[in-house]
Amino acid sequence: KLQQRIHGTTLEINLNALTHNFNFFKQLLKPQTKMMVMVKAFAYGGGAAEIANHLQTMGTDYLAVAFSDEGVTLRKQGIRLPIMVLNPVEESFDLLREYRLEPVVFSPEFFRKLGNYAKNQQVEVSIHLDLDTGMHRLGFEKQHLNALKSLIKDFPELKIASIYTHLVGADEQEHEAFSLEQLRLFTEMKTEIESILDYRPLIHALNSAGIVRYPDFQMDMVRLGIGLYGVEVTGKFDANLKSVSTLKTTISQVKTLPPGATVGYSRKGQLPQGGKIATLAIGYADGYDRRFSGGKGYVLINGKKAPVIGNVCMDMTMVDVSEIDAKVGDEAVIYGEQISLNELADQIGTIPYELLTNISARVKRVYY
Ligand code: PLP
Repeated sequence: KLQQRIHGTTLEINLNALTHNFNFFKQLLKPQTKMMVMVKAFAYGGGAAEIANHLQTMGTDYLAVAFSDEGVTLRKQGIRLPIMVLNPVEESFDLLREYRLEPVVFSPEFFRKLGNYAKNQQVEVSIHLDLDTGMHRLGFEKQHLNALKSLIKDFPELKIASIYTHLVGADEQEHEAFSLEQLRLFTEMKTEIESILDYRPLIHALNSAGIVRYPDFQMDMVRLGIGLYGVEVTGKFDANLKSVSTLKTTISQVKTLPPGATVGYSRKGQLPQGGKIATLAIGYADGYDRRFSGGKGYVLINGKKAPVIGNVCMDMTMVDVSEIDAKVGDEAVIYGEQISLNELADQIGTIPYELLTNISARVKRVYY
């Protein structure tokens, strides 16, 4: 409690809930299917090193980050698991090598650059091939396959640890036909690549929603992300997952205001009948989205809903507590077991991923 008062806002991470969710997804897999966990973006806001460390003790097979320096940070914190880097750049080749990070290779040009690097340095580099089957973000397209196959022959220094694709709409039923077409194209493309290899890379395609919807396509490995953090984006197994993160803040001041008073910047909060407000120690600089302004968001104070009044400020937010017994130092829950991230995200037209990853570095992470 004292810690929380000093820090203002804390993000509590329940590692037992994380273990529960990991095991829940694990039991959906065939015994031989491996588990890669996405710990990019500070492990979806939860704290990369702590979560990676926990995953390491739980028998995770692989980790993935977006950028090379995220991988470097994990290595410096003692993470020994293999780490795939989704979006590496040429300038980080030395870093990748020094920290044993495994880059994704997504174009013939990048393959050649990394291949030349490995040849010059006389090293072997484990790589992962990203096949673009419809995401149209990064990745080899079907038209690149011939070029890719000759590059694989030219640069045996690049060892293909895995071949994967990413589904664009695994969470949405309406995109099922597209997902199945992506999986068909992926199978065709990876088979063509495999035909020239004398070893077998790991094959993978499914994210959290994919694991739920397409159990027949688990292949050698799946890539678990948001599900681990307790958010079920298909709705099917919502009740089976446990809430991992709870964002909490405290009340700094309570004010009783007369009829006609306005609250906050631009006088956006209106109290025609007057009322009671509480000022919370959280603002948009903590990652509390400004779109929660004007009643779009609410917090729980002593078990009751207090709507946001006026505009969210940089470091503070005012909520209406006219009907609530609230005092300085009381806790306000932004999200957690009782307020789901899916519901909150809907309120402001975004996705739970954005809410999780927006929690800024200033917010103290507490693990229990
Ligand atoms: N695989 C790739 C390539 C990703 O970019 C992501 C996350 O965006 C995931 C897997 C995990 O997705 P999710 O968090 O929906 O499980």
